Amino acid sequence: MIFIFFGPPGSGKGTQAKYLVDNYDFAHISTGDLLRHEIEKQTVLGNEVNTIMESGAYVPDKIVIDLIENVLSTSENSNFIFDGYPRTLNQALAFDALLSVKKLKVDLVFNFDVDKDLLIKRISGRFSCASCGAVYNDTFMKTVVEGICDKCGSYEFFRRKDDNLEVFKKRVEVYLKEIKMVRDFYRNKNLVKDIDASQAAELIQIEVKNSLIQSGFII
Ligand SMILES: [Zn+2]
Repeated sequence: MIFIFFGPPGSGKGTQAKYLVDNYDFAHISTGDLLRHEIEKQTVLGNEVNTIMESGAYVPDKIVIDLIENVLSTSENSNFIFDGYPRTLNQALAFDALLSVKKLKVDLVFNFDVDKDLLIKRISGRFSCASCGAVYNDTFMKTVVEGICDKCGSYEFFRRKDDNLEVFKKRVEVYLKEIKMVRDFYRNKNLVKDIDASQAAELIQIEVKNSLIQSGFII
């Protein structure tokens, strides 16, 4: 099975990907991770990618598709979640071409849909314990006693710089704009399953599981 996960940062798709990896033997493929891995291994390709990224340019589609082909050929898994890929129409076409050579196809596209304002509340309010890493949220999951970690009793917390509201808003807007065309491409093929990602993670998980049943993946 080949699944694609679409969803902005903070939509909770990572949690659902983990659920499929842990329970149904899916491999989670993020192109960012693939690229980083090549760079770390210092392969010929990795060094090339490193030079490109350091110059601030985008990594060409051709390199990304070669990496994906490599994963599909060498992985022991036969079920894959592509997280945030393809991101452009050209990538989607190249991906389709690659899959058809391998007698594979995209089986299902999960669209984790969440209201932008809710997303911003969710992410901007996120903070974690500096000592044990427990994650909290100003709106959705406060500590029981203000300023004290529920889990370990620490008084120190930190907020990621990345959670800075403006930066985050920008990321979400860019993402939503970018993804629209490629999502419509799959929608026209009737492959998109819309998931209301403003629900609790447990409810989303039930929807994901139901989709597995509907698609005949599990009974
Ligand atoms: Zn703690």
